[in-house]
Amino acid sequence: MPDELLLTAAEAGRLIAARELSSVELTRACLERMRTVEGDVHAFVRVTDDLALSQAAEIDRRMAAGENLGPLAGVPIALKDILCTRGVPTTCCSRILENYVPPYDATVIQRLKQAGLVFLGKTNMDEFAMGSSTENSAFGPTHNPWDLARVPGGSSGGSAAALAALEAPLAIGTDTGGSIRQPAAFCGVTGLKPTYGRVSRYGLVAFASSLDQIGPMARDVRDCALLLQVLAGHDPLDSTSIAAAVPDYAAVLEDSVKDLRVGVPTEFFEYRGSRVSGEVEDAVRAAARVFEGLGAACDEVSTPHLQYVIPVYYIIAPAEASSNLARYDGVAYGHRTPRGAADVIELYEETREEGFGPEVKRRIMLGTYALSAGYYDAYYLKASQVRTLIRRDFEKAFENHDLLVAPVTPSLPFRLGEKTDDPVQMYISDVCTIAANMAGLPAISIPAGYADGLPIGLQIIGKPLDEATVLRAAYAFQQAADFHRLAPLDAPGRDGVRAVVAWERRGQR
Ligand code: GLN
Repeated sequence: MPDELLLTAAEAGRLIAARELSSVELTRACLERMRTVEGDVHAFVRVTDDLALSQAAEIDRRMAAGENLGPLAGVPIALKDILCTRGVPTTCCSRILENYVPPYDATVIQRLKQAGLVFLGKTNMDEFAMGSSTENSAFGPTHNPWDLARVPGGSSGGSAAALAALEAPLAIGTDTGGSIRQPAAFCGVTGLKPTYGRVSRYGLVAFASSLDQIGPMARDVRDCALLLQVLAGHDPLDSTSIAAAVPDYAAVLEDSVKDLRVGVPTEFFEYRGSRVSGEVEDAVRAAARVFEGLGAACDEVSTPHLQYVIPVYYIIAPAEASSNLARYDGVAYGHRTPRGAADVIELYEETREEGFGPEVKRRIMLGTYALSAGYYDAYYLKASQVRTLIRRDFEKAFENHDLLVAPVTPSLPFRLGEKTDDPVQMYISDVCTIAANMAGLPAISIPAGYADGLPIGLQIIGKPLDEATVLRAAYAFQQAADFHRLAPLDAPGRDGVRAVVAWERRGQR
């Protein structure tokens, strides 16, 4: 395996700018790696090799001409298949969009092009981002590179697995209830869900519009910061995008954390009588001690309404989804039933019956029910009120804390098939991540330990628009604890890889 695959994006970008490594060389190495491991991992649903190689050659040409491009120019990236990409099929891993080729780019895709990133392909995901394991993809699941019998998490499981399997140094995910952070935790990589409104949602296929947010995924914190820098900023095409200045995220990474007040929210460790696994709790408590060791003040804090996150999310998200997904009717775009329909209602019914998978149908039914006349007040309105209480818990906690540290997942990565027959068990796997979406807060997942050769994530939640402090703390932890340098290097073997191998790194960190 070539050494370039072990480079961070920052290192690769530096070498490409110094003309010590060409973007084409690095892109070829990634494409070759994909050919070797994809049969086992299945992180991608589409590889865009021609596009990647032509983008890479263009960057090399511009570098040779002496152009000064950004720090990530020429670096390959994997894109979740939920971002509209002009000329490239964008399916959301749903049969209903199987042949959909968007005529326009999402704002984040445009920004990535502007910054000179190279598009390796589209990553696997749960259909319409509904799920926690990628098992709801219409195109077959992704396997966790640390153990192929286990899920990579979801819905951005393909993006997380591509990073862990060293197929790509950077990836984009989206997070409605944990879909960046939970797969990052399960695959031992780093993923940040920004503040709601920090990154434009224009061109993101909508799931639950009041919760959806696009964010960076990478193998370390610095790379996440550099990628967020590309993604973040106001966009007039998204009415919920925030018009606030974007700080220089990489500039503050090395600042001290000894002034920080860190809260550990008690309720994140137990949901309705069932406690997070011992390994996860130990890793998070140990992380809090690492922050204390770095001079930060740590204490317990309470977010009492956390006990309602699952029922509240599973009313609000499906309600918004049922409305957003009404557009897939077989008329304007996407799948249309090939069976002749007698009338328009039959056309809708047949098209949707054929095009949507079982979990998406379940969400549409849940959401339509919750919004029905007579039930709206009892369900949607009530859930919105409780959402406000959850948000207030955080406002209160942040009156005297800068950050909260918590588990990302209640358990280690589970086995493929383990939760597919029990949707409620699958839903509960997001119990630690949903609250940040409810309150619109930035939150990161970073590697915080290993048990049985499987990664454990640490969640750091910040104040609105304070990604800089989240990243600074995450960077300090990463430098002190050093869990991010582990990868299932020889993955994937048919039996799964349990051996954790320290990365041999080239160049300066
Ligand atoms: N797993 C959650 C769900 O199924 C969250 C998904 C997401 O964040 N997109 O809805």
